[in-house]
Amino acid sequence: MTQAENSSAALLAHFAEKQTEILAFIRWLVEQESRSGEADATTRIAENFGERLTQFGAAVDLFRDAKFGATLRARFPHNANPDAKQLLVVGHLDTVWPLGTLALRPFTIDGDKAYAPGIFDMKAGVTLATFALLALKELGRQSQRPVTFLMTCDEETGSHFSRPLIEAEAQHSQAALVLEPPVPGGTIKTGRKGVGEFELIVRGRSAHAGNDIRRGINAINELAQQILTINQFADYERGTTINVGVVRGGTLSNVVAAEAHAAIDMRFERVEEGQRIEEAMANLMPMLDGAQLEIKGGINRPPLVRTQAIADLFAHAKNLAAEMDYDLQEASVGGGSDGNFIAALGVPVLDGLGVDGEGAHAEHEHILISDIGRRATLLTRLIETI
Ligand SMILES: [Zn+2]
Repeated sequence: MTQAENSSAALLAHFAEKQTEILAFIRWLVEQESRSGEADATTRIAENFGERLTQFGAAVDLFRDAKFGATLRARFPHNANPDAKQLLVVGHLDTVWPLGTLALRPFTIDGDKAYAPGIFDMKAGVTLATFALLALKELGRQSQRPVTFLMTCDEETGSHFSRPLIEAEAQHSQAALVLEPPVPGGTIKTGRKGVGEFELIVRGRSAHAGNDIRRGINAINELAQQILTINQFADYERGTTINVGVVRGGTLSNVVAAEAHAAIDMRFERVEEGQRIEEAMANLMPMLDGAQLEIKGGINRPPLVRTQAIADLFAHAKNLAAEMDYDLQEASVGGGSDGNFIAALGVPVLDGLGVDGEGAHAEHEHILISDIGRRATLLTRLIETI
């Protein structure tokens, strides 16, 4: 057996032994509900998780916000190379699930699957990182550089509070590992689209639909025409998509609608495409006489572009996985994550390093228990070799 195979083999055996403990930790996290925007709940889970990390020897800081709760930063001491650039390990403790979902869908094991709200996205991933760091300590292994965990509280709603914290840590990081769920099948993410969110507000003038229709300006009619224009901004060849996801407007069928709104999602692979759409949205002109348009929002997340440095990092991960005869694959996806902010600063990112499973943001959300050992091994090998 080569040294490399031996490195992974020892970890695989270690994590096989720890499987019950790891599952108990995942359960402990998912049983603390933490929907984005529930500040008390996201603060509590960060405090509890921070306490555990402190016991493991980390220096923990919480950054608190009245609206979003608390983002956790944990620095793990490094004796050998304290001055080396750090390795950043990023996750989020918030979920999309309303408080009370757990009572309807409690933590359940069915064969190889463990179900719970937020388990796949991404409390299993957060647990992996915790046990990876613990394994280094328990097995007398060492990372190449100081390791910092950043666990945000508002990723699911766009990381408006956490973004500056993420960017500040990224500035002095060699690379970042993101604990988001993989593409089902275990495929990790080396590219992500950028995300824009817009709201279009149309103002017209109300009038009696029977007696006075020509004195009205129908905001819904105006919006309908704008939507046709906006959809033409998409460019599938370039990976740019537009989705008008919500419309509302008007009051009654016999009233000319004075106001109408649309919520629009935009995804793009290239920075210049994001700029093109932002400009096109800002330049929308009313089509009906007297109608007024207002555009809110803009680009929320820049794209995570697969640079050469990211490709190299993936090749490294693929070699590490091969130590376990694990054929690791990569993909580019449309969904954004906190990895987007980090990659935009030129720091290589590997994303989707969580446990395999399925059903992010869906009722059948679950992880595959049999995948825990090899993903924990892969993550630990990445942490000790980058
Ligand atoms: Zn997530």
